[in-house]
Amino acid sequence: MRQEWHQLSHPGVGNPGLQTTRPSTDSAEDAALGLDRWRDLPRAQTPPWPDPAAVVDVCRVLDNVPSIVAPYEVDLLRERLALVCDGKAFLLQGGDCAETFVDNTESHLLANARTLLQMAVVLTYGASLPVVKVARVAGQYTKPRSSPTDALGLPAYRGDMINSLEATAEARVADPQRMIRAYANSAAAMNMLRAYLSGGLADLHGLHDWNKDFVRSSAAGERYEAIAREIDRALAFIQACGMTDDEALRKVTLFCSHEALALEYDRALTRVSDNRAYGLSGHFLWVGERTRQLDGAHIDYISRIANPVGVKLGPGTSPEQAIELCEKLNPDNVPGKLTLISRMGNHKVRDALPPIVEKVTAAGARVVWQCDPMHGNTHESSNGYKTRHFDRIVDEVLGYFEVHRNLETHPGGLHVELTGEDVTECLGGAQAIQDIDLPGRYETACDPRLNTQQSLELAFLVAEMLRG
Ligand code: PEP
Ligand code: MN
Repeated sequence: MRQEWHQLSHPGVGNPGLQTTRPSTDSAEDAALGLDRWRDLPRAQTPPWPDPAAVVDVCRVLDNVPSIVAPYEVDLLRERLALVCDGKAFLLQGGDCAETFVDNTESHLLANARTLLQMAVVLTYGASLPVVKVARVAGQYTKPRSSPTDALGLPAYRGDMINSLEATAEARVADPQRMIRAYANSAAAMNMLRAYLSGGLADLHGLHDWNKDFVRSSAAGERYEAIAREIDRALAFIQACGMTDDEALRKVTLFCSHEALALEYDRALTRVSDNRAYGLSGHFLWVGERTRQLDGAHIDYISRIANPVGVKLGPGTSPEQAIELCEKLNPDNVPGKLTLISRMGNHKVRDALPPIVEKVTAAGARVVWQCDPMHGNTHESSNGYKTRHFDRIVDEVLGYFEVHRNLETHPGGLHVELTGEDVTECLGGAQAIQDIDLPGRYETACDPRLNTQQSLELAFLVAEMLRG
């Protein structure tokens, strides 16, 4: 399959009769930047497209559409992440494991964004640092899978950009037209979020009021009252100083991110500006644990764009691999360019992370250290649900802070899967969700997400950790 795509997209390499299927905007400039080099490399998790020519047609459309984000925003995020790299800011990234077309609604987007911003208020206070806010949104439509088939023996669901979650053989056929739907949904999501973010959604007082509601209603609220009261006093102080009209209190920048997995999509939305390539399908693109092969297609693609990029590091990562990733993805050692996202699992983080941090630090590589406490802590519940326990998530974050405290490096941020809805997908938390509660509202298209209460609880706990 890969060979067919390779031939179709590379005139002169494959069948010369197929040269006309080359995407129309390929230029000498793009070639000089190596933007299509990935097509010649081994690629894990390749979507099983049944008709490569149809993929080329779709990419030709995406080659010319208005982009989801703008180059200056990408540069701005890289600059903000440079502050994180220097220990002067904290990064909070979160959202659905897998966005879906059907859930790409105003209410879902707003609930997710509001939860992330509520968490950010608590973390800003806890860290006494600016918090860079990055949503998993407006493009998080592809999923890597551990097996090509699911429990029913059907081709695995690979995210709405590729195929449908519906459990029929027909629905699971990869359909490149879905990339256009993903683009349209992403554009609509960003359009809506941008409008709401400058229209009250980000109001600091409003967000704090929501947090107070949470503290009042949570079974563990008492524990968080002290921090909520301190934030209250801080806000009253700001108000008393007459700083109520400050834009900073009413507006925030929320960046968007997704896994760079369907490379056809991200490549088609890549634009060259000032001789630099920008992946304009999102501000921040990361490569997952299953596709981070150093000589593979995904790492090659993200090595060629100016965006800040991330790589997930599982417990099998050697310190040498981490160094090689730094060299390949950030050869100029630009602070803010590269985020290493550890997802070790709570039982392994204290052993697996230190040698990596030590080696990267000793090499002088400038990176943002981010903790994803979700993906190493997944298990199957007694009644067959893919779930995560809140306690293990908290423990991995604790371990991550311990490691960085011991090595005197900056614990730069968190990467979580969450939703602003009252789902029952992760166990525990103050609501004490148990196995038998999971079927109540288990709605994720892929991995289990923290619900609103669990997300805020995590933010308050991390604020406590940050204050030492
Ligand atoms: C994810 O972030 O949804 C994901 C699949 O992560 P990982 O690559 O770390 O498994
Ligand atoms: Mn996930």
